[in-house]
Amino acid sequence: MRERFERFMAGRYGMDQLSRFLDIAALILLIVSMFVRFPLIFYLAVILIVWSYFRIFSRNTERRYMENERFLSFTGRIFSRFRNRRYYQEQKKIYRYYACPKCRQKVRIPKGKGKVCITCPKCHMEFVRRS
Ligand SMILES: [Zn+2]
Repeated sequence: MRERFERFMAGRYGMDQLSRFLDIAALILLIVSMFVRFPLIFYLAVILIVWSYFRIFSRNTERRYMENERFLSFTGRIFSRFRNRRYYQEQKKIYRYYACPKCRQKVRIPKGKGKVCITCPKCHMEFVRRS
């Protein structure tokens, strides 16, 4: 049985992150479709499952590999944007951000020091702001 399965899978693409994501998305949609009377959700789940298995059993491995790479770079961009935003929000608690009036360079100063004279690191323009 195992041997037959291995022979069947020979030369086929197999599982990857995109197919796993499609399976999980389909599972979530199936659960949702049990509670929501909206048949389109169920059909969408079936389409995702069929798509996922089409990819797993596909013999065009190069193309499936490229699809997965695109999927990974896309999700990577979303996560890094999310991380950047969280980092920026953390920084905003400690620092105040100003743009240099001359060259628009962003300058970061520690909060709670009263009025301070800021020297732009790029063009050396001096300006006074509340910290
Ligand atoms: Zn400047």
